[in-house]
Amino acid sequence: MSVNISELTIESVKSLLREYGVVGAGGAGFPTYAKLSDKADTYILNCAECEPLLKLHRQLLEEHTREILSAMRAVMKAIGAERGIVAIKKHYTSTVEAVEAEIGDFPELEIKLMSAVYPSGDELLLIRNMTGRVVAPGALPISVGVIVNNVETVYNVWRALNGAPVTHKYVTVAGEVAEPKTLLAPLGISLSDLVKSAGGATVEDPAYLVGGPMMGTVKSGRDAVTKTTNAVILLPGNHQVILGRRLKSGIMLRRAMSACCQCHSCTDLCSRHAVGYPIEPHMIMRILSNGGHGDRKAVLGSFSCSGCGICETYACPQGLSPRLLIAELKAQAKKMGISAPEGVSTGEPVRDEKLHRVSTSRLCSRLGLKKYDVPAPMSEDVPVCKRVRVPLDRFIGAPAKPCVNVGDDVKVGDAVGCACERALSVNVHASVDGRVSAVTDRFIEIACR
Ligand code: SF4
Ligand code: SF4
Repeated sequence: MSVNISELTIESVKSLLREYGVVGAGGAGFPTYAKLSDKADTYILNCAECEPLLKLHRQLLEEHTREILSAMRAVMKAIGAERGIVAIKKHYTSTVEAVEAEIGDFPELEIKLMSAVYPSGDELLLIRNMTGRVVAPGALPISVGVIVNNVETVYNVWRALNGAPVTHKYVTVAGEVAEPKTLLAPLGISLSDLVKSAGGATVEDPAYLVGGPMMGTVKSGRDAVTKTTNAVILLPGNHQVILGRRLKSGIMLRRAMSACCQCHSCTDLCSRHAVGYPIEPHMIMRILSNGGHGDRKAVLGSFSCSGCGICETYACPQGLSPRLLIAELKAQAKKMGISAPEGVSTGEPVRDEKLHRVSTSRLCSRLGLKKYDVPAPMSEDVPVCKRVRVPLDRFIGAPAKPCVNVGDDVKVGDAVGCACERALSVNVHASVDGRVSAVTDRFIEIACR
């Protein structure tokens, strides 16, 4: 690592991460610089990689162990954290071995192994599992002195500390493709072009599930790879996962009104309820089925939902989706200016909490995805395309402002979007060599050379 760690300050690291466009590589894409705080005493590397079929984080940690551990050291030094935890599932054996081979050189870091259960990568559950600290409902991890980043985010931190911007995204391409693999995709490549690099689709008219079968969304082949695209899973359009993701909340509400038998199973298996968060999905279903009448406290509990999807894919015997209706309820509440309640404490975890965890392997079977759970090795193949549309707005915060014009020639790594000043925002960079062919508020299109 060429960076001089002893010279790094929290402000210099933040500035580099903003300049080189580092955001959470997955989830909503929160700018990483804004997470850094000198109030943290613990830094956790999240290698839970919970969603079935995803492989990229464990592969990347195995491939670039030393760089990633070095980046952890640099961040910890800058923020003054004393404890660094590499949190990893114990059945990722080759990755665990790779970390164990290097971690001796990093006395400030420790490795902690997790079971193969879903959703252990949920930040709040991970923090509780790794440190015993409980993040209060509505609060952020930093409130208990912890920062969590996933593997690719930390790898991008290492690159940024060495002067390299985020221009590509590791993406696992799986499901109905000829050669499942993990590819290093240029930002802005279309999903259909990316799939061609995995041998192409093996079914007619496939559905593109982006981000994983539990929390992902169905997109079109014309959509672009962003800084948060972890996986593209091709499935037949009539696969149960796709039908579930396409269901509209209005239809689900009508089904819930007639079919919810208040069996309590969604609450029994709710991952957040199990550890004491004030959420009871069966109560929310009851209230919604009664036209919105019921206990306000139960409605506010919806803010503790992580969207993990256990209630819909695993728990409900009637095929209902509390997750979908809770997401809708939260969105409506936010529109009305209602935010997550503060000052609420968590309750006691349920008795025999471990019995309420869901095995990832069983989950995969239940989702009808077992046949797609095959190796998807990291590939050296470079996805090819005629053009990319590099997104300016696909992260939390203010979109970057275009800083190139149509006709400009750009090279990989050139800034094409500048972080919005005095706002939560990051720079955006060209992912290919080429000529700018379109500029909008949402993307920069580059015709590849
Ligand atoms: S598991 Fe399904 S049927 Fe049972 S209470 Fe929850 S939503 Fe209703
Ligand atoms: S999606 Fe369902 S199981 Fe997951 S936290 Fe929300 S209510 Fe609980």
